Amino acid sequence: MCDLHRPSLSRRSLLTAVAVGTLAGASARPQRAEAAADEARPNAIKPEEALARLLDGNGRYAANATVNRDFSAGRAARAAAQYPIACIVGCADARVAPDFIFDQGPGDLFVVRVAGNFVNTDGLASLEYGVSILGAPLILVLGHSECGAVKATIDVMKTKAVLPGHLPALIDAIRPAVDLAEKARAQDPLAEAIAQNVRHTVRRLEQAGPIIAEAVAAKRVKVAGGFYDIATGKVALI
Ligand SMILES: [Zn+2]
Repeated sequence: MCDLHRPSLSRRSLLTAVAVGTLAGASARPQRAEAAADEARPNAIKPEEALARLLDGNGRYAANATVNRDFSAGRAARAAAQYPIACIVGCADARVAPDFIFDQGPGDLFVVRVAGNFVNTDGLASLEYGVSILGAPLILVLGHSECGAVKATIDVMKTKAVLPGHLPALIDAIRPAVDLAEKARAQDPLAEAIAQNVRHTVRRLEQAGPIIAEAVAAKRVKVAGGFYDIATGKVALI
């Protein structure tokens, strides 16, 4: 991750160094070599295509028709590089494993998980790495039904209870979403808070300068929100 602090190390220069190797250095037109390396990346797809692949995979998962994978295939290639088609911001909840939910293989998803699927500085830095260095064209923020972290935040805000350990940090991070849900006066406060938590994180990421906001403005990256229903296995876009 320390590579992020080296402004001279862009994804292209990294790819050139790793994928193109000495060819780029020997070329009279290194920029063309860099562009070619970018286009050759397996994850050089539009954000919309990445989202469609995730939703197709979720359709297979929900229908219990997932791809029968050979996990040993491609191991050597994966040891050399990774080309995720999407970054996922997901909850740590044991029932919400993105690779299963979207029926994707090893190396396909770059996943940041924390209880309550919000983004702190470390998560943001990880996503910046996924977007700028690994070239993922999509960030999907995934909330889910029966989220214990959101439930706990609603309870704590109601009862003014003080949780032990570091748990108050989770509550503080989710509190803005519960505030928004209360203002909306929804019939189902938990479902509304879960949705607001996703929207809040999507907005935050879209505006997260300089790396992600710039990629979103240039339409290289899309930030989307989704809701996973544990009971049905289905993901709906928010
Ligand atoms: Zn959760």
